[in-house]
Amino acid sequence: MRPFRKEAAFCLPVRKWRGPVAQRSDIVVIGGGIIGLAVARKLCLAGCAVTVLEQHRTGRGASWAAAGMLAPHCEFDEPDPYFILCRTGLERYAGFIETLKEETGCPIDYNATGMIYPALSDRRQAKLETRYERHRREGVPVERLTVREARRLEPDLSNQVRMALRYPDDHQVENRDVVTALAKSVRLHGGKVREGVTVRSIVLDGPRVTGVDTTDGLWNAPKVVIAMGCRSRYLDGVSPAHQVPVRPVRGQILALRTGAVPPFRHTIFTHEVYLVPRSDGRLIVGATIEEAGFRDEVTLGGVLQLFRGALGLAPGLASCPLESTWSGLRPVARDGWPVLGATGTPGLFAASGHGRNGILLAPLTGDLIAEAILNDRVPAIMQPFLPDRFYPIEPEEAN
Ligand SMILES: Cc1cc2nc3c(=O)[nH]c(=O)nc-3n(C[C@H](O)[C@H](O)[C@H](O)COP(=O)(O)OP(=O)(O)OC[C@H]3O[C@@H](n4cnc5c(N)ncnc54)[C@H](O)[C@@H]3O)c2cc1C
Repeated sequence: MRPFRKEAAFCLPVRKWRGPVAQRSDIVVIGGGIIGLAVARKLCLAGCAVTVLEQHRTGRGASWAAAGMLAPHCEFDEPDPYFILCRTGLERYAGFIETLKEETGCPIDYNATGMIYPALSDRRQAKLETRYERHRREGVPVERLTVREARRLEPDLSNQVRMALRYPDDHQVENRDVVTALAKSVRLHGGKVREGVTVRSIVLDGPRVTGVDTTDGLWNAPKVVIAMGCRSRYLDGVSPAHQVPVRPVRGQILALRTGAVPPFRHTIFTHEVYLVPRSDGRLIVGATIEEAGFRDEVTLGGVLQLFRGALGLAPGLASCPLESTWSGLRPVARDGWPVLGATGTPGLFAASGHGRNGILLAPLTGDLIAEAILNDRVPAIMQPFLPDRFYPIEPEEAN
C-alpha cells in the first residue's frame, strides 16, 4: 500500500474564521487608557464580561504622557463641583493603589510627601497670601512657609522664593505603573484587553446601542463605554446631538536625570511649570497647555518654556542631563469638566474629558461609571458631569 500523502491543500495554515460571526461581551469599553481600564476593572470585579478595545497599545495615550500629580488642592482656586470631584478622587487613591499592588504584584511608585507652591514675585506672593487665607477658612489642609522654612524643606529651591504654601495632602504617582497594573488587573479578573483593534462605529438597533464595528469584526454588547480620550468625539454612528464634545489640548513635558536621589522630596508646583521627583532619580518637568489639534510633536518653543520655568524654580538644575522629552493630548470638554455617565443613546456611556486630572480621577471614574451601568444610579457627586448638559435645548423649552 502506498503511504498516505497529505494533499498540498492540507498543509496550508489554518486561518481563524472571523467572518460574520460577531464576538460578544456584556460591556465593551472603547479605549485602553487609564480611564477605560479603571472602568473595565470595576465592572470585571462586579462579575461582568468586559472587553477593552484599544487601537494601539494600552495606556500609551495621554495616560502615559502625564506627570501623575494627584493635586486638587494645588490645582483649584474655587471649591466648585469639579474640585469636590477631584478631592473625592484623592481620598480614594492611596487605598486604590494598595489594593492594585496586592492584586497584581506590580510595583507602583507612590509619593505622599506633599506639594510646595512657591511664590517668586511680589504679584504671585500677594495671590498666594489670599489663597492661603481662603483655603484655611475652607478647611483645606495648607501650611504657610517662610522663605527659610521652604528652603529648609527643599534646599535646592531658588533663593528668589518669597514664601510658599505647602499642601501636605496632595500626592503623586508614577502613572505608567498604574496603567500597567490596571491592564493586568482587568485580565486577572477575567476581562479581555484587545490591543490593535480600532472601533470604527457603534451599532444600533433603533435608538439603542447593540455593539461596535471594529477592524476585527463586529462586537455585540448591550452596553458600550466611550473612553477614547481626546478622540471621544470621533465615533461614527453616534447622533451628533449625543457626541462627547471633547478636544485635544497638547501638553509637552520632559525628564531630567538628577542622580540616584532626586533633588526634591516634594513636588514643586506652580500653574506655569511643575517639578515632579520620581524615586528612580528622574525629575519630571511639565507641562505646556496648547491648542494644537491632534499634532502631538515636541517643539523648541515648548521645551524652552519648560527649561525657563524649571530654572526659575531651581537654577541648580542647569547641570542635569536631559533624559527625554515627549508630549500628550489631554481630553478636554467644551466647558473643561469631565463628561461622565449615560449619553442620550440608550446603552452608550461616556467616561471622558478629564483634562489635567485624568490620572487623579481614574479610580473614582471607575466607581461612578460602574454605578451608572450596573445600578442605573447617578451619585450626587456625578450629577454636574452628566453628558446631557451639552444637549441642545428642545425648541419648545427655548420658548
Ligand atoms: C503632559 C500631560 C501631563 C498630565 N499630567 C497629569 C497629572 O499630573 N495628573 C493628572 O491627574 N492628569 C494629568 N494629565 C491628564 C491625564 O493624562 C489624562 O486626563 C488621562 O490620561 C486621560 O485618560 P484617558 O484614558 O481618557 O485617555 P488616553 O490615555 O488618551 O486613552 C484613550 C485611549 O483610547 C484609544 N482610542 C481612541 N480612539 C479609539 C478607537 N476608535 N478605537 C480603539 N481605541 C481608541 C487611544 O488609543 C488611547 O489609548 C496630563 C496629561 C498630559 C498630556
